Amino acid sequence: MTWRTHMCGEPTAALVGESLILSGWTARRRDHGGLVFVDLRDRSGVTQLVINPEHSPEAAELAHGIRNEFVLRAEGELVARSPETVNPNMPTGEVELKVDSLELVSRSTALPFQLDEENVDETLRLRYRWLDLRRDKLQRNIRLRAQMVGIIRRTMEEAGFLDIQTPILFKPTPEGARDFVVPSRLQPGRFYALPQSPQILKQLTMVAGFDRYYQIAICFRDEDLRADRVQEITQLDVEMSFPDQELLFELMEQMYARIWRECLGIAIETPFVRLTYEEADRRFGSDKPDTRFALELEDATEATRGSEFGVFAGAEAVRFLRVPKAFSRGELAKLEELAKEWGAKGLAYLVFDGGEVRSPIAKFLSEAELAAFAGKDGETLLFAADVQEATSRVLGALRLHLGREVDLIRDDDFTFLWVTDFPMFRREEESGRWAAEHHPFTRPTKEWEGRFHTEPKEALAHAYDLIVNGNELGGGSFRIHEPELQAKVFELLGMTEAEQRSKFGFLLDALAMGAPPMGGIALGIDRMTMVLAGEPNLRDVIAFPKNQAGVDPMSGAPSDVTDEHLVELGLARLEEPAG
Ligand code: ASP
Repeated sequence: MTWRTHMCGEPTAALVGESLILSGWTARRRDHGGLVFVDLRDRSGVTQLVINPEHSPEAAELAHGIRNEFVLRAEGELVARSPETVNPNMPTGEVELKVDSLELVSRSTALPFQLDEENVDETLRLRYRWLDLRRDKLQRNIRLRAQMVGIIRRTMEEAGFLDIQTPILFKPTPEGARDFVVPSRLQPGRFYALPQSPQILKQLTMVAGFDRYYQIAICFRDEDLRADRVQEITQLDVEMSFPDQELLFELMEQMYARIWRECLGIAIETPFVRLTYEEADRRFGSDKPDTRFALELEDATEATRGSEFGVFAGAEAVRFLRVPKAFSRGELAKLEELAKEWGAKGLAYLVFDGGEVRSPIAKFLSEAELAAFAGKDGETLLFAADVQEATSRVLGALRLHLGREVDLIRDDDFTFLWVTDFPMFRREEESGRWAAEHHPFTRPTKEWEGRFHTEPKEALAHAYDLIVNGNELGGGSFRIHEPELQAKVFELLGMTEAEQRSKFGFLLDALAMGAPPMGGIALGIDRMTMVLAGEPNLRDVIAFPKNQAGVDPMSGAPSDVTDEHLVELGLARLEEPAG
């Protein structure tokens, strides 16, 4: 038996008069007492079936019992619709299948939600993900993701990168998150860690002489979930020996240009803009600036050194945004609320409106200060006065908010950029220890190679991130291939020699046996799909995601194990699982 001669999205006027077989799902059924209309759907689209009791009484009998999402097989002649019933919004809207015979292939129980229903509770959608995935939007997102991954693979293969699979059961690999651990039955009391990234392993493929590696790798990070984070991240993971930053950047740029061209028909501009971390922070108050709009931060620290306004005079940094709008009092109060949420103590402003300056602080400011700000009519200057880092945080966030609020962003723009020369280390708040800003295998820039340990706060890393529209797509670095240098970084991170050996002895040994210079990058596939699809919900670009509590409402994972199983693993329970 033939299930289908065509897909449901294919019938057009050119096929009128032919007999067709279609199989698919009932998207909609309209029962007019006599005639029954069924929209039959498969992955390619929808065709309207017409079932006429006079033409085929058996089919009509069956059709009365059909409900949404029943699977049908229909045979009949493709006919042209009468002009008044043509649907110009449907690719198959000029035709319909006049059904000769109809087969009910499988039924559906009552649906927990209709496919065209809006605002369905997300837990319900995840619980019945197979249904949810039938919706147009999710079909599109998942297909787009597959198309993109196909292009990525082709680009990497053409450039001579080899797909090498690395293990999932491994040792802790530091990327700054908590590890997922898996108990070992054969080695009771011992645990594997799921890799936070294949970082060390990909470096070992370079030591092993493979020269160019890539993998679509899943990385496991036991993080508290926020709206934009998942615990299983899929990334394009790349490494090359004898690395050349220009070559790597260009390859990535070509790859993105190809993805955008083939998936969306959009030409993106290459080469991408490059900013150093210092410049990105200075101009945009962010290490992942959205550069679709200007609204750059300006500095007034010098101009306000002797200010009578104490808040300005005493602050490490005074910076401001020049917004092309004269805000009302109410609007300013709302902005101040937001600024406070981001850690500001207040929000000083100057509104240049109708030849006047509206501002509670204007009376403290000298002519010279006002002249230095050079506000124009119809502008508002919004100030942050604090330590440098806090002014970046507040104004960076305010800038993004205003970009949307004052409508400075064009949604169909894609602005890619590289941010380079990141700080190498940051101080951990709680322990006061130095931590690697990227990961501990990242090498310092040339200038810092010999002295990163003397001024860790200032030291710069040969690390880069790729940003699009204010989203970090991923990042990478050049690596340390000298065992002594690696040990020195470990030492600065507070690791004793014994710890270095037990955690990373195998890496240090490998680096001591002829390691080539190496560098690479990892780019998030989930995030890339979100941007490509214009999809704000991270979970909607993943076929089977977990919810924000790390639970899969569909399968119920994570689930309990039996006491026997625990005994085998050498584990004991401290707590009964909830629920
Ligand atoms: N392993 C890094 C990460 O997962 C990327 C890299 O340095 O290549 O973020």
